[in-house]
Amino acid sequence: MNAPENPPNVPATVLVVDDDPGARLLVGIALEMAGFKVISAGDGMAALSQFHEHSVDCVVLDVVMPGMNGFDVCSTLRRMPESRHVPILMQTSLDDMESVNRAYNAGATDFSSKGINPMLLAQRVKFLVRSKQTQDQLRESEARVRYLAYYDPLTALPNRQRLLQILEQHIAWAEPRQRGLAVLMFDVDNFSRINDTQGQAVGDVVLKEVAHRLQGCLRDSQRTLGAADESIEKQEITDWVARTGGDKFALALPGVATAEMVQAVAQRVQSALARPFVVAQQDIPLSATIGVSLFPSDAATPEALIKNAEAAMHHAKKAGHGAIEYFNKSISTRAAKHLSMEADLRRALERDEFTLNYQPRLALKDLRVEAVEALLRWRHPQRGFVAPDEFIPLAEQSGFIVEIGDWVLREACAQVRRWRDAGGPLWQVAVNVSGVQFRDGSLVSRVSRAIDAAGIESRMIELEFTEGALIEYSAAVSKAVKSLKQLGVATALDDFGTGYSSLSYLRHFPIDTLKIDRAFVRDIASKHGGNAPLVDAIIAMATSLGLATVAEGVETEAQWQYLKTRHANQVQGFLFCRPLGIEELALWHADWLHANHLTSAIVA
Ligand code: C2E
Ligand code: MG
Ligand code: MG
Repeated sequence: MNAPENPPNVPATVLVVDDDPGARLLVGIALEMAGFKVISAGDGMAALSQFHEHSVDCVVLDVVMPGMNGFDVCSTLRRMPESRHVPILMQTSLDDMESVNRAYNAGATDFSSKGINPMLLAQRVKFLVRSKQTQDQLRESEARVRYLAYYDPLTALPNRQRLLQILEQHIAWAEPRQRGLAVLMFDVDNFSRINDTQGQAVGDVVLKEVAHRLQGCLRDSQRTLGAADESIEKQEITDWVARTGGDKFALALPGVATAEMVQAVAQRVQSALARPFVVAQQDIPLSATIGVSLFPSDAATPEALIKNAEAAMHHAKKAGHGAIEYFNKSISTRAAKHLSMEADLRRALERDEFTLNYQPRLALKDLRVEAVEALLRWRHPQRGFVAPDEFIPLAEQSGFIVEIGDWVLREACAQVRRWRDAGGPLWQVAVNVSGVQFRDGSLVSRVSRAIDAAGIESRMIELEFTEGALIEYSAAVSKAVKSLKQLGVATALDDFGTGYSSLSYLRHFPIDTLKIDRAFVRDIASKHGGNAPLVDAIIAMATSLGLATVAEGVETEAQWQYLKTRHANQVQGFLFCRPLGIEELALWHADWLHANHLTSAIVA
């Protein structure tokens, strides 16, 4: 005989409750013939205790019984969690409307009159069991959907949505008791580098381990909140860890209202991450940059607590990896300013508020202009001129730098074309690109499109990117630099010496030029008895690697004279020319040629 339902080979169990042994027997046989497992009870109390012992899939329940009648049994079952959703078929000889109504009110699923052919009754039970299974599946998938809406499947931690709920509960708990609540938001420093270099699978393993270690940093809530605190809340009013996005995590610490109390937890978090993660036979230590906001002093709503802690975190990042920052008013003013500037930045492209200035790069040997560096300028209608150091980090954070960078590329290429068409100078134009532009892998095709659109030769363009970008996005940069080389576009490493890459590391990247950061140039002739050993070393090593060198930020005659003796290839700096608009640059250049007795502007 086949079992009537899933899972296969496990027959569904039907409980038959009737005080009449004959009726129990008849119905039982019919149900067994239909493939069910049957258990029975002679009265209400026995029926309830059967429920505790067996997993029951359906109940066939007599109404008229001595002691507890069927209606009472039914409503009791509906109140018990294990039988809340089990179908109950009430059997009554009283088929008047009144008892049908009472049956439904008591929570019956269906009813039939007592005289019904037991075989037909079994068919009805089959139907009820099957529809219960469908409902169970539905409930399960609903639960799954609910889970996915509130939990992160990778780490099984609450997600941002759930964190908001948790904070809501924490605030509701803390407020009437005049207790505090601390929210810590942080991301794992340099996580994108692990993802880039080791692959996403390794990244996932690391994130899971981070989640695990974070849970180890939580306090024993019973101890911290006091065991006497009200019972039902205890489960919810504890410390929580949540994963709020990619490599972003949050801690919610109820009952914590001062920076001193937060400090202990924050330090536990940092030492937990500092313990090396062993991945693919490598030890990777991590750090977290943590932003903290406190209820009630910093904010009163879950959203504001999160927002302020995030603002503090972004602020902390400026102080370097592994820092902890507490929210304060000036951070919020700055964050608000950033937000509105970010919005303005998005409109700046449409409103044509960007322009490029150009600063010459001159050959050290004869002071001819060989190249110009394109430097972005933003003229905001109200704020006036905004410095690139102020808005570029913001554009990088929001990812909007990709579109801005695209504009810079296209404009720089178009300028090369305009100079060519006008019979003007054939200067190579150096374009700065941010690390973020390497991230999505579309940089090379964007560069190639900009060059094609302007109809210029690719060797007229050079891309400058910083050592920081190279370190943070090494895999993406390495790939892009190789493709750029094939395309014929030159590459330069900007601000060299400010990051931590060694020259030997640079061997892996076929870069053409090294730009020595102006911090080293500034050192020339001011210390070391007129010597600049670092500049010497950089030039010597760059030359041995076959890289050209550009000294940035040359401001004094003495610096220039020194560089001449050291064979750098090019110089750039205020001593020669500031970044200028096109017309001013043309005027400057005419003067420059004249003053230096140079005859031709053409260096191709
Ligand atoms: P950078 O690429 O190192 O550009 C050189 C910066 O040094 C420029 O500042 C330039 O005006 C300045 N400078 C040139 N000569 C001297 C000098 O003799 N003394 C001193 N003290 N400074 C000098 P600027 O234009 O404010 O740009 C700052 C940074 O913003 C740039 O540094 C670059 O990293 C970034 N940037 C500028 N334009 C763009 C762009 O289009 N895209 C991206 N991603 N970044 C850009
Ligand atoms: Mg540059
Ligand atoms: Mg530079």
